[in-house]
Amino acid sequence: MIDSHIEVVRILVVEDQADIAQFIQKALQHAGWQVDVAHSIAQAQIELRNQPVQMILLDLGLPDGDGLDLIANIRSWNQTPIVVLSARDQESDKIKALDAGADDYLTKPFSINELLARVRTQLRRWAQIDKGENAPVVQFGSVVLDRQQQRITRDGVVVHLTQIEYQLLCHLVAHAGQVLTHQQLLKHIWGQSYAENAHYLRIYMSHLRKKLERNPTQPEHFLTETGVGYRFVLGQE
Ligand code: CA
Repeated sequence: MIDSHIEVVRILVVEDQADIAQFIQKALQHAGWQVDVAHSIAQAQIELRNQPVQMILLDLGLPDGDGLDLIANIRSWNQTPIVVLSARDQESDKIKALDAGADDYLTKPFSINELLARVRTQLRRWAQIDKGENAPVVQFGSVVLDRQQQRITRDGVVVHLTQIEYQLLCHLVAHAGQVLTHQQLLKHIWGQSYAENAHYLRIYMSHLRKKLERNPTQPEHFLTETGVGYRFVLGQE
């Protein structure tokens, strides 16, 4: 008998290099997910039209175009997590992909463990979005953020944040597991005209770390993506 409650998680890998595509497919299938491979943008578009996918792993250099265009195309109609696979470790490519709507990136070569950790993070995030879960109370480390009461405690003691610090914290928490670029954060918190003021972020991120991290110099939750932006994580895998 087929149990209709068990939902198959389908992941689409868009990668033209056969050995890499196979390496990813095997690793993800071994972890229990259904994996389809597309070797071009055209194939990816057909796959996406046929069946829903829960996640997309996307190479940027494809034979029939730039993966960036596919991100923009997908984002015009759906919010499925996209993790970019990039051989180019140039920050500008990562930033372009994130600004176009990708959620995270992996720089080639990456290990199976890195791959699985990123996929799990995004699938968890997607499951929450899908269920419409946006719990008012979020806990990370010894910090409890109650968005309904607008109250933050650390080890049970109330922590006072400025308005900007609070807005930044809530935005990061709402995008837990995602890399947010400097520009995305600056535009959201300060507005369009502040898009180039990356030093604002450095200052406020250091405030949040001092107030909320166990060891501000070795952050566990407010992580720096050098030259790209920041990633907030709730806890270790
Ligand atoms: Ca390629």
